[in-house]
Amino acid sequence: MTNSKLFSFEFFPPQTPEGVEKLIATRKQLAMLKPEFFSVTFGAGGSTQGRTLEIIRQIKAEGHSAAPHLSCVGSTRENIRTILNTYKDMGIKRIVALRGDLPSGMGSIGEFQYANELVSFIRVQTGEHFHIEVAAYPEFHPQASSPREDLANFKRKVMAGANSAITQYFYNADAYFRFIEEARKFGVTVPIVPGIMPIVKFSQLARFSDACGAEIPRWMRKTLESYGDDNTSVQAFGLDVVTQLCEKLLAGGAPGLHFYTLNQAGPSLEICRRLGL
Ligand code: FAD
Repeated sequence: MTNSKLFSFEFFPPQTPEGVEKLIATRKQLAMLKPEFFSVTFGAGGSTQGRTLEIIRQIKAEGHSAAPHLSCVGSTRENIRTILNTYKDMGIKRIVALRGDLPSGMGSIGEFQYANELVSFIRVQTGEHFHIEVAAYPEFHPQASSPREDLANFKRKVMAGANSAITQYFYNADAYFRFIEEARKFGVTVPIVPGIMPIVKFSQLARFSDACGAEIPRWMRKTLESYGDDNTSVQAFGLDVVTQLCEKLLAGGAPGLHFYTLNQAGPSLEICRRLGL
């Protein structure tokens, strides 16, 4: 991978002190790759608000660039304004702006319905202070009424002021290239960085993929299933497949890679090593 490509690593805020300690060690390892930023997810409805902020503080204190995710569903303008001001005061410069998915049974959707409304709100409240990332879906968002509508919605987020996008993960490079082509035809010019999900455990990957609509191609699913509980083979296969995917994406012009680390350094590090970082 050449150094002109941007790469970044995503974490979730751990629930236990042990998880927090483990994440410090994970960051230390990944920091050696000098990423553009470390991002931290935010539970929809504000369920991880305090923990996200705490991890962002730690990343900042370690001297790295930190990008909090901020999901708006279930929230109020007042609450989002408070969070934005806190991040601004901390010197945070990048935010990943999302709608989020309200957990079932959890109250009303709040004062924002879609992510484009959050992007507009951030711009109105804080001007050009933040670099705003939004989500994009090469295999389409599961709730989109059609691929074209999904693209129109993506464009709406960019028109509202997003500077760049990170995609949902996928294992089919053609879906990404096709999406880029369509987005460009639609007049969307911002960088669209592929989200990369290393494969660590098949049951977990299958669960995530069912929930978010990311396809595991049949040949991959069948092979992974055939390994059963043999996680060593799952991981070896996963490293080969995902490294090849990254090579294809970068060779095809992807501006960088964003790794969904699941708070583990090993798989992302090994993929980056194989890519020649
Ligand atoms: P939106 O862009 O609002 O789109 C949601 C759906 O509504 C799409 O189907 C879209 O086509 C449709 N839509 C949008 N606008 C309209 C409109 N005006 N009329 C009709 N339909 C419309 N979730 C979290 O809770 N926390 C996180 O930290 C988090 N991080 C993520 C990071 C990345 C890189 C990605 C790709 C996803 C992340 N998610 C996170 C998941 C995300 O919140 C879900 O995928 C969610 O379902 C959609 O969020 P969005 O921001 O893409 O929503």
